[in-house]
Amino acid sequence: MSFNALGLAEPISRALSEAGYTTPTPIQAQAIPVVLSGRDLIGIAQTGTGKTAAFALPILHRLAPGKKAAPKKARVLILAPTRELSSQIARSVKDYGRKLHLTSTVVVGGVSIRPQIKALSTGVDILIATPGRLMDLIEQRAVSLNEIEVVVLDEADQMLDIGFMPAIKRILAMTPAKRQTLLFSATMPKEIRQLSDRHLTDPIEISVIPAKKTADRVEHSVMHMQPGAKMGALASLIRDRKGERVIVFTRTKRGADKAAKRLEADGISAAAIHGNK
Ligand code: AMP
Repeated sequence: MSFNALGLAEPISRALSEAGYTTPTPIQAQAIPVVLSGRDLIGIAQTGTGKTAAFALPILHRLAPGKKAAPKKARVLILAPTRELSSQIARSVKDYGRKLHLTSTVVVGGVSIRPQIKALSTGVDILIATPGRLMDLIEQRAVSLNEIEVVVLDEADQMLDIGFMPAIKRILAMTPAKRQTLLFSATMPKEIRQLSDRHLTDPIEISVIPAKKTADRVEHSVMHMQPGAKMGALASLIRDRKGERVIVFTRTKRGADKAAKRLEADGISAAAIHGNK
């Protein structure tokens, strides 16, 4: 399977081969035809699967011959949870679209809003944004979403965790009902399912599992227990593996400190490392 076979415009497939992309990843092979057809899409995929190109390439293709964005309007809106991810998407869009005459801009919090207002004043084909800053810009009338043709929600579950769900709902309500909506998420918690039920139209759902997550020599097992029993169980697991060195991962820095302390108290030599040290 090649990018040409997927029906992408020549300037796009040329930019891709110059970037060293020869074959589409599984999410790209499945998602690109769906997006090109104009259908809504739910993509269950993590970072690293090539999901950015899976939505960016067909969007660039569909915008390629089109009209220009009017002042203070955008044609495509890509929402992402963080500054870092937004900038990464913006770089990819610029890269894949460098043979097309399209404009894109990224608006995120934590930096001055003035240059963002200026960039939006002439209108922009592709707007990449974090939800909070986009709401600020809408309230300041720097941009309006009533001519949006495509909305992408990238890492929807992360946006939910950060607390962006109310902003996302308000933003979607400001876009035309007759738009294409693409939702990407690594997981599908109930709130994301509800969001897609409400705001996507008859979506096609695609799920890709990262190729191989563990080496063959790694054995996996799960123990179900009450939270209070975890540390004792951990200590006895480690004691059973006498002489072996063990890495324990915890969710939080405090959790790492607590685990190390508890193991030490049980006579197991342990130390915590984390970003506060
Ligand atoms: P993403 O999952 O979108 O964060 O992409 C992960 C990485 O894979 C990025 O560094 C992309 O540049 C790269 N990538 C995406 N699609 C392809 C492809 N078809 N061939 C080679 N590299 C790719």
